Amino acid sequence: MNRRKLLQAIGGTTLASYFSGAAEAQNVAPPAATSGWQNWSKSLPSSGAQITAPRDLAGLKQLITSADGPVRPVGAGHSWMPLVPSDYAIVKLDHFAAVSDIDTKAQTAWIGAGARLHDVSPILAQSGLAFRNLGDIDVQTLAGATSTATHGTGRNLSCLSAEILGLRMVTGDGDEIEISATQNADMLAGARVGLGSLGVLTEIKMQLVARHKLHRRVWFMPHDALLAQANKLWETHRNFEFFYIPFSGMSMCIAHDETQAADTPRAADESDDAVAQLKALRDYVAWFPALRKRLLGWAIGAAPEENVVGESWQLLSSARNTLFNEMEYHLPEDVGLAALEEVRHYIEAHRADVFFPFETRMTQADDNWLSPFQGARRMSLAVHCYHADEYQFLFTHVEPILRKYGGRPHWGKLNSLSGSDFAALYPQWQAFADMRRRLDPRGRMLNPYLTRLFDGAA
Ligand SMILES: Cc1cc2nc3c(=O)[nH]c(=O)nc-3n(C[C@H](O)[C@H](O)[C@H](O)COP(=O)(O)OP(=O)(O)OC[C@H]3O[C@@H](n4cnc5c(N)ncnc54)[C@H](O)[C@@H]3O)c2cc1C
Repeated sequence: MNRRKLLQAIGGTTLASYFSGAAEAQNVAPPAATSGWQNWSKSLPSSGAQITAPRDLAGLKQLITSADGPVRPVGAGHSWMPLVPSDYAIVKLDHFAAVSDIDTKAQTAWIGAGARLHDVSPILAQSGLAFRNLGDIDVQTLAGATSTATHGTGRNLSCLSAEILGLRMVTGDGDEIEISATQNADMLAGARVGLGSLGVLTEIKMQLVARHKLHRRVWFMPHDALLAQANKLWETHRNFEFFYIPFSGMSMCIAHDETQAADTPRAADESDDAVAQLKALRDYVAWFPALRKRLLGWAIGAAPEENVVGESWQLLSSARNTLFNEMEYHLPEDVGLAALEEVRHYIEAHRADVFFPFETRMTQADDNWLSPFQGARRMSLAVHCYHADEYQFLFTHVEPILRKYGGRPHWGKLNSLSGSDFAALYPQWQAFADMRRRLDPRGRMLNPYLTRLFDGAA
């Protein structure tokens, strides 16, 4: 929701001055961590485990085999689920970030598991390559992003994990293994989305595409009109998504399509200011829904369309500096919009405090065991809450709607599902649990949350 357009729409009119002095249009800096490790939004309790960044494979193996208890790998800490916390050891792969064996013909490369996506893209571009797709942000590590099936949007575009051709890891027993088309190939579909529960990944071989430019178009539509055209828009555009702006009756549409056109200047990303403006409206007129809707509609109605051309990796992702908590479910394609409408009606009737737009995206099917997109294309619906706001209603009211429609949660985002719930959603759940046990027979990769998921223990 970080598009400049929203700011122009909301802040570019007299709205900002209408609420002058009250708009709080400043970035919300992350609070300082008290101690130990915490996730991006600080939603998880601080974990006191020692954080270690081994310099090489020998150091990593030594850490895994000598730690007093389970070892949990961490990427950029951008997950909300307690996948990382550990009482013993947290391992960072900062020193495993090189890009090697770039094959420009096959469009592949081995990439260090701890490499940040935003650092990899410019390196790939120098060789004429790029990731096929990216999500809203690109600060994640490659291992972190792929271990939870991180996705962008595009009817014919898969999640990042589906682009994995090979994995190198140190298992919970300290063994080095490769899983690829030529080694341990039977484990590849299971290991692509592994939640860091199989071992510590050190390198990942990715299928890439030729470096390409995209034309981004951002525009607003009345939400009802958008619903009628949404499927057509997904069929027409390489990447299409939309953000419903709560209490406005309007949605912001974003499309990206390949182009050879000349680059256009990039405007500064002012999304945090846009979010602050939405928050200000919530703070001052939440209890006057008709006024809130009129002000939002008035601001959005005056917004011009945005058109930008640039490198794919420079346009697809952007910065998110305002902290929030998020639930995202991946829904069967044919019921995704119905689920959105039910969530929207609930929030607009009962949750005047919500102001972050709801994000709706589409991802192509794959056949990876724990991929939420396993078996069929899915429409993803994400609801965000400001980090300082109470978000229990996501579990009590939003999640039941998303589950009723057959949704599978994003592995890294808020959900309350148990191992038996996941077993019912994933046909290969047991096969994954068996493979996990083979690779980590002593449970060295399991923290309490993962233990509950895979071993059903309390
Ligand atoms: C602001 C924001 C925007 C986001 N936007 C999107 C989006 O557009 N699309 C989307 O799908 N998701 C999105 N996410 C979710 C995010 O992409 C995932 O939660 C992702 O897993 C975070 O990657 P990370 O590097 O921070 O990994 P972490 O959150 O640190 O870890 C995630 C998992 O990866 C494992 N892991 C990390 N490194 C290794 C390793 N070397 N070996 C084995 N396992 C490892 C961890 O143990 C854990 O299980 C967003 C999150 C935030 C906070």
